Amino acid sequence: MSAAIASRIDEARLWERHMSIARHGATAAGGVNRQALSPEEASARREVTGWASALGLKASTDAAGNFFLRLEGTDPSAAPVLTGSHLDSQPTGGKFDGVYGVLAGLESVEAMIAAKVRPRRSIEIVAWMNEEGSRFVPGMMGSAAFAGAMPLEEILGIRDAAGVSVAEGLAAMKQACPEVPERALGGPVKAYVEAHIEQGPILEREGFTIGIVTGIQGKRTFRVTVTGEEAHAGTSLRRDRKDALLAATQMVQALVAVMHDAEDVVKFTVGRFTVQPNAPSVVPSSVVFSIDLRHPDSAVLQSLGDRIPEICAAQAGPCEVKSEKLTTSMSLEFPPAMRQLIGACAERVGVRSMEILSAAGHDARYLHTVCPTGMIFVPCKDGISHNEAESATASDLADGARVLAEALLELSRD
Ligand SMILES: [Zn+2]
Repeated sequence: MSAAIASRIDEARLWERHMSIARHGATAAGGVNRQALSPEEASARREVTGWASALGLKASTDAAGNFFLRLEGTDPSAAPVLTGSHLDSQPTGGKFDGVYGVLAGLESVEAMIAAKVRPRRSIEIVAWMNEEGSRFVPGMMGSAAFAGAMPLEEILGIRDAAGVSVAEGLAAMKQACPEVPERALGGPVKAYVEAHIEQGPILEREGFTIGIVTGIQGKRTFRVTVTGEEAHAGTSLRRDRKDALLAATQMVQALVAVMHDAEDVVKFTVGRFTVQPNAPSVVPSSVVFSIDLRHPDSAVLQSLGDRIPEICAAQAGPCEVKSEKLTTSMSLEFPPAMRQLIGACAERVGVRSMEILSAAGHDARYLHTVCPTGMIFVPCKDGISHNEAESATASDLADGARVLAEALLELSRD
């Protein structure tokens, strides 16, 4: 019976749906800009809802703006099996990051319906709110709220660069999708499986179609604020200056030196650098920069992160510096039973699989605290992601969906 499900996965349909969703927020360079709770994300949700409704799935949303499509099982009172990912993107994102998990979930359910298999447990496809964390910081907000890892009130008050709050974004989403009923936040979940492109080069390089994700690399984020003093670029003496930009660049150089490891395992990124007043003839008075630090070993991650304030302070010169810890997510390991299940499903489908650590964060991180969780990776071209050139093959996407469909069916049986 199970093989019948995998054989119902329609490679062409799955591919066409990716191309169709990519129209919402399409960029000239072939990528997407579909940030959290934007009109583009709303129209993408409406399109997915259209496909799901035709299959008899019921849409709903919760107070954190997570979006669900439910296939009712034969035992509606049993805790559902969840699958999905996200529909939001980075400002210069690609067609597959996040979208794949949602569409592979939908394709899995469509395959079950086509095979006339009704699972005992309901299956819910979910698009989590603001996974990317580019419009609203931090990312993975919706899944964090669902898991109770972050208070809803705190999330609702967070504002984007234009001053729009998450609460206002949610209201706009509600207005754009008025027919979607609201459900309670959180609730029991039997299991969660997330399909995603790898966003790295390993599967392609090693020649495997399926990555059985062993866990997620830990990550700490920081915000460093350097405060100096504005001065005239022509008249102020060097010795009197409190140049915040100069101090900040020295901090970044000192941090890079400390974070440098011969094995190239530490991931250290300063992705945002904001200079005030940002005028060519004014000595900068303030710089705020971000730090994203990752390492698979939680102890190393902890100790490297703990050194950031002292390293910055040592480079401050005449300026003042404040280092704030924003988020800490230690490395995690998915349960062996979920990994074995995904491996067995890959074998049944007849595709090569290997174990792989996720170097990127995913909503599965928070679901891991709620229920047995696993992830399925498929290759992406040259490991390129968070980039408009992001690409994957229709055949790999379909194989991933086949493995997902088998896993979902198995989980929804007991
Ligand atoms: Zn993603």
